[in-house]
Amino acid sequence: MTDAAPLTLFNSLTRQLEPFHPVHPGEARVYTCGPTVYNYPHIGNMRAYVFADILGRTLSFKGYKLTHVINITDVGHLTDDADAGEDKLEKAAAENAQSIWQIAQHYTEAYWADIKALNIRQPAQWTIATKFVPQMIEFAKGIAEKHCYELDSGLYFDVSTVADYGRLARAETSEGQSRIDPVPGKRNQLDFAIWRKTPPGESRQMEWDSPWGRGAPGWHLECSVMSGEVLGFPFDIHTGGIDHREIHHPCEIAQNQAHCHTNGLDKAANSGANIWMHNNFLVERSGKMSKSSGEFLRLQLLIDKGYHPLAYRMMCLQAHYRSELEFSWEGLGAALVRLKRMVMGVEKLRERAHKGQGGNFDANTYVGTFENVMSDDLNTPEGLAVLDLLVGVSAIPPSDAVVAIGKVDAVLGLNLLTLTRTDLRIRPKAATITVAEIEATLAQRKDARAAKDFATSDKLRDKLTAEGVEVMDGDPLGWDWKLG
Ligand code: AMP
Ligand code: ZN
Repeated sequence: MTDAAPLTLFNSLTRQLEPFHPVHPGEARVYTCGPTVYNYPHIGNMRAYVFADILGRTLSFKGYKLTHVINITDVGHLTDDADAGEDKLEKAAAENAQSIWQIAQHYTEAYWADIKALNIRQPAQWTIATKFVPQMIEFAKGIAEKHCYELDSGLYFDVSTVADYGRLARAETSEGQSRIDPVPGKRNQLDFAIWRKTPPGESRQMEWDSPWGRGAPGWHLECSVMSGEVLGFPFDIHTGGIDHREIHHPCEIAQNQAHCHTNGLDKAANSGANIWMHNNFLVERSGKMSKSSGEFLRLQLLIDKGYHPLAYRMMCLQAHYRSELEFSWEGLGAALVRLKRMVMGVEKLRERAHKGQGGNFDANTYVGTFENVMSDDLNTPEGLAVLDLLVGVSAIPPSDAVVAIGKVDAVLGLNLLTLTRTDLRIRPKAATITVAEIEATLAQRKDARAAKDFATSDKLRDKLTAEGVEVMDGDPLGWDWKLG
């Protein structure tokens, strides 16, 4: 461990910044609620994993041995978080006339492709919900007698049997939440399904035998079981998007309390994890984030339009994870330009290092500042500002600056030491012109300009514009053209 500022993180459970004290000295055990694989993730979903990745990389940078688990929910998540509606996967399978297993596999792979494209590190384990059903049944058996009751539709958790239900959400246990609640016979409005029985006369593609009849586990049960199984209670940090602070995580906490026989939540460890962290939402005004909106904002759409996926990562890092982030194409374009500047900056530093140029500033001071800002609840906007300095301050010896950028980028994950300008110049899918044609036309145009034949030069420029190529005369970035 280094002598720099201790790591401080915002705990949603206490609504406070708290120093990180690992449960197991030198280790950090983190569980992240993963996707429900019934559709492609939208870029907002991916913000949740970029955030969890930054947390994991920061913990590694601070010297902790990280065990990170992300789950894949392939059963049990209903179309409404509060026990209402259909199973999202059953519904998608019916709509696509495919087996639920095919749906799950297809969208899990699509999600993993986005994980890779965003340079999110692989967790120690991806836990797949359907692989943990026997453990879920055991867990439910252990808490059923004291904390649950059976209805025709399944086994329900009685939230009045644990202390401080809803502390995380800051919600009242009695009333106060206006959720649609179609389940007749529940003791408390906020009680939730642990096990959902298959209705008589129906069969589901995914169902298992249990002491409460054939059926499927509830979504909240899955995360309690997978986190506890792999990381052990209490573990260090549990993450998810801010919507999970309201229903999913309070339900997980209630189950964990029941399972661990812990009491009230004044002691955070009683919840099953010491720190609960939530990223705020990516928002978009025109509704393109909604998966039911036809062409919705998924990472592939950004790539198809000519934006490198790491430009989206840059966009995420430019905001603090606890702030709402508004998506716009202009904002994404600006993030891409910033990434290009950094990539070119590294190229220039390497050239200067090659020429043996020096400087008298200490690059490690910048790394120290970087560590301090990241230790302050993962302040990535400030971290990027330090990176800008490392790239741009000419008094830092260039070879030291490159080494320091490597250290900083191990946390920010922008691939600055390997990305090239060519990597960043992605062709929009709609463009038909080839790179060779662009270069040839630009060469003709250069000749025309040299000959002061501006009419021809303008015509060639118009021709390129019609093909979606933006010609950038005197571009300070040194980019001659851009497809976009
Ligand atoms: P889901 O697959 O719906 O369970 O969501 C996967 C993750 O994305 C969860 O952690 C959600 O809280 C998170 N999430 C959903 N929508 C957004 C959004 N617009 N911005 C950021 N995170 C989101
Ligand atoms: Zn979860």
